[in-house]
Amino acid sequence: EKERVYNFSAGPAMLPREVLETAAKEMLSFRGSGMSFMECSHRGAEFKALYAELQERTRRVLKIPDNYSVLFCAGGATHQFAYIPLNLCGPEDVIDVVQTGNWSKKFAEEAGRYCKINIASKSSDFIPAVETWKLTEGAKFIYFCDNETIHGVEFPEVPKVPEDRILIADMSSNLFSRPVDISKFGLLYACAQKNFGPAGCTLVIVRNDLIVGGPKQADKCPIVGGYELLKKKDSAYNTPPTYNMYIINLVLKWIEETIGGLDKMAEINAKKADLLYKYIDESEHWSGIAKPEFRSRMNIPFRCTHDDMQAKFLEYCKPRGLITLKGYRTMVGSFRASIYNAMPLRGVEKLVEAMKDFERDMK
Ligand code: PMP
Repeated sequence: EKERVYNFSAGPAMLPREVLETAAKEMLSFRGSGMSFMECSHRGAEFKALYAELQERTRRVLKIPDNYSVLFCAGGATHQFAYIPLNLCGPEDVIDVVQTGNWSKKFAEEAGRYCKINIASKSSDFIPAVETWKLTEGAKFIYFCDNETIHGVEFPEVPKVPEDRILIADMSSNLFSRPVDISKFGLLYACAQKNFGPAGCTLVIVRNDLIVGGPKQADKCPIVGGYELLKKKDSAYNTPPTYNMYIINLVLKWIEETIGGLDKMAEINAKKADLLYKYIDESEHWSGIAKPEFRSRMNIPFRCTHDDMQAKFLEYCKPRGLITLKGYRTMVGSFRASIYNAMPLRGVEKLVEAMKDFERDMK
């Protein structure tokens, strides 16, 4: 068997080895049922028990207050770009969007089809101070993307906004990578394929008072995407992505039991990011993109001082088992290392070694 590689993909990304091993072991018979979890009915006892476990675990790991609903929605984070305004806003309501990269821009484009959008600020390699945001009077929400996966820009902390504002955040590429104070948000959400599972399932955490009475635009909102209904139906109004939920439960169990919770997870993630940034900063051969105070612990775009070196370095990394390091098309930098929860420290050490060796060999 070929040794597993260190995969620096922005998502779908690496999963913990232990999770894959357990899934393999249980593939033919989930907990003695004689069925793969993939084959279990979403109305059956196996799914019900697993879903209860997953709800409990998610609430425990993230310390989610009781007045929030935890929904596991079919589809990607992109689906929520529409479901958020359809559920929470009337057509005349305004969302102030803090645009710090591609994903907040994409949200504004889609959400703008269902409500009013004001771009409160626009940047790509830093996060402007809250005082400079051009907020709309009477706007319902402030929306931001906590970690811009392509631009490698991350909010160092939850922005301190005026009391009467409600925050919505896309945490697709950093939820479960550090503790987060859920009570500061009206809604936050994340697709699973970066830090906690396979693609095609998105976790939505929403304050209950925002969803009473059904979707605000009930006439337009597909029934299947209504948050209040999904809450009532335990995320299973129709057939949900059951196997994704099974894997997510295993990943969260790994975070809880093997890693020791989110404080520990954050420590490990900081260590990995520091290692890579420290080398990029020291070296004359490589440079980072985002401003240091705002650079992401998860996605690290960087350049080689000689742009023509891209193909060479990628080839250089391959035999070392370091893959998917190419930057996002032509948008940002030549390379991007995504180092989510399941990327071992050893993977980052091996990347730094490769960068050092390459630098030496090119001289
Ligand atoms: N938001 C962010 C921050 C992302 O990184 C991504 C995926 N790269 C998305 C949204 C879209 O997620 P999906 O592809 O699951 O729709």
